[in-house]
Amino acid sequence: MAKRRRKNKKTKLISLVIVIVLALILTYGDKSNTEPEKISDKEVRVHFIDVGQGSATLVSYGENGILIDTSEAEYSKRLVDYIDSYGIKTLDYVIASHPHSDHIGGMADIINKYPIGTFIMPELSEKNTPTTRVYEKMLTALVEKDVNVKIAETGEVYNVQDGISFQTIGPCEQVSDLNDMSVMVKLTINGNSFMVLADAEKQELSSVYEAYPNINYKSDVLAMGHHGSSTSIHDDFLAAVDAEIAVISCGKDNKYGHPHNEALQYINDEKMVMYRTDIDGDIVFSCTADGYERVESK
Ligand SMILES: [Zn+2]
Repeated sequence: MAKRRRKNKKTKLISLVIVIVLALILTYGDKSNTEPEKISDKEVRVHFIDVGQGSATLVSYGENGILIDTSEAEYSKRLVDYIDSYGIKTLDYVIASHPHSDHIGGMADIINKYPIGTFIMPELSEKNTPTTRVYEKMLTALVEKDVNVKIAETGEVYNVQDGISFQTIGPCEQVSDLNDMSVMVKLTINGNSFMVLADAEKQELSSVYEAYPNINYKSDVLAMGHHGSSTSIHDDFLAAVDAEIAVISCGKDNKYGHPHNEALQYINDEKMVMYRTDIDGDIVFSCTADGYERVESK
């Protein structure tokens, strides 16, 4: 009898422990869902750097950064000087949106200079893989430095550190126009969001929007597609982004006539505030939990 009672006691004790553990798990789980986003304790800035007819977007936080594209090789020195001026030693993520020289021209120099956590690029079919020197230089540098390379997947979220994350969007089909093979990036910095379209045009914006209706495209700032080209205005996609500020990265008096009137008209119709690298130079936003504001570059 005495033995059985002990056993019962033991069973009761085990049950109690299970209940407590479950309660702890549920409480913890619940807490992690409702806890507000942790804010980065470092100053976080998003930079649309003036790199002529091309684009390069940097997120800086302490000695670390995230870089999306580099523009042409001729701007490598300017880009490296800019990154160094913020004291950045490591690029946690580097994203090569698509293999055109106005986006990856300086990539080999960046790969050779900085330690890189993860390098993200679009998946390209054999047919779409370029044989250009600039692309081969980038691949060679990645292999030589043994960089961790990740193929972009639509909807994948990268939690970089407290208050800093990004999501890669597109491409979702292999098409012959490499602009429409762009990896788009939605940065979320201390609750402020920046949608960087790279050179995605209507074809990609439309296919991504249709294939992924559940992505939260809404962003505070929109870096317009393809340097403000008319071919990157897709009403449904841009309405989903619904940004307050439009940024255009383009070179002064560029031969493509970027930004096109259609893009300027769209920005005007939507009453967005516009900044252009060809007019405003480097466009920098400081991001805190209270919001984002445009600040002067260093
Ligand atoms: Zn471009």
